[in-house]
Amino acid sequence: MEKFEQIFSFINEKAEKYEKAEGITFLDGVLQALEDVLDEKENWPGQDAAKEEVRKAIQIAILKGMRKTSQPNHQMTPDTLGLLVGYFVEQFFEEQIKTTPISILDPAVGTGNLLLTVMNLLDGKTSATGIEVDELLIRLAADTAELIEQPVVLYHQDALQKMLVDPVDAVVCDLPVGYYPNEEAAVEYELCAHEGMSYAHHLFIEQSINHTKEGGYLFFLVPANIFESEQAKELNKYLKKTTWIQAVIQLPENLFASKAHEKSILILQKQTKSQRAPREVLLAKVPNMSNKEALSMFFEKVQMWKESK
Ligand code: SAM
Repeated sequence: MEKFEQIFSFINEKAEKYEKAEGITFLDGVLQALEDVLDEKENWPGQDAAKEEVRKAIQIAILKGMRKTSQPNHQMTPDTLGLLVGYFVEQFFEEQIKTTPISILDPAVGTGNLLLTVMNLLDGKTSATGIEVDELLIRLAADTAELIEQPVVLYHQDALQKMLVDPVDAVVCDLPVGYYPNEEAAVEYELCAHEGMSYAHHLFIEQSINHTKEGGYLFFLVPANIFESEQAKELNKYLKKTTWIQAVIQLPENLFASKAHEKSILILQKQTKSQRAPREVLLAKVPNMSNKEALSMFFEKVQMWKESK
């Protein structure tokens, strides 16, 4: 059996045992299994495994748990998207990471899958902070980070309230999409809706920009129609004032369950006096991932854009 399978089987077996014996959900059982490993109660098969093998095995166990008891906010960012975001982080920080590690913030860290995919890709060159409102998800993120030895500080809180986080080099975030129910907190934002409720994803963008260093980059997974919604005008105005849009990357439709769930990658740079806007915004579409030739043309296009920037 491969290492990945051994780790998955180990977690799966323990989680099923907890589910039956204690009447808890499978997902809670996964958390319990990981905590037992960290408390050294168990003989962990992930001891000499690669970080990616451990992350992927835990991810599959969490996905199984999410499928068994579905909850609207339990949405993990899949690997294909995480790896693409990681690729762009690597491209934008290519020079800096040769000498200095970068600080990353994920203000909606969930299970940590997106953040940890990016950190594993840039292994040893990052440190991170994650924020999450759901207690079970943030505990899963904390245990996974500890098991794969990635330096992450996590805060269990509403990311749209005051955050005690120093400005970071980069933000990565698969934005929670929808209305933000706390209108009292929303009025603190320039992107607060003039009428009715504000979009949480817009407020997350503003909050993220506020916590990014000048010249830092932000990598968001956003609804594909973000610039067509009724509050798009205000968002556009705000982005023009505070950032330079670097890229808008359309993602293949077949990665999403329906048109309404389609996402794009939006890459921003927080404005700074020492730099200027890119000559051109990179507008590109990721082809179907199984089309190797088209995919390599896509990466070539990104490289050409980077050289002409
Ligand atoms: N990238 C994550 C992963 O790989 O697991 C998934 C992120 S999911 C699309 C969005 C996350 O935002 C959910 O975990 C949800 O609980 C969290 N969230 C929603 N509103 C929030 C808020 N106000 N503050 C902090 N987290 C929030």
